Amino acid sequence: MKVRCDACGFEFDSTLDELPVEGGIRLCFRCPRCDTLYPVARMTRRGVELREQIGQTNDRDILRDLRSQLKREITDERGR
Ligand SMILES: [Zn+2]
Repeated sequence: MKVRCDACGFEFDSTLDELPVEGGIRLCFRCPRCDTLYPVARMTRRGVELREQIGQTNDRDILRDLRSQLKREITDERGR
């Protein structure tokens, strides 16, 4: 998926960047031309751990549980 930068009009692939912030990470798009940041969401440190656990299991019940926990560790930051 491509997104267009509001600041300079450049189109780029919407690959999520992860920036460390206090207490976790921030997920955002970054325009490769002008470096404008578009925040998408914030994830707590616990969320990062959960995401790692999700990548390490194939058990459906465990996955469902981990994913519902993960949801609570993510704050949507779009449109702010
Ligand atoms: Zn730009």
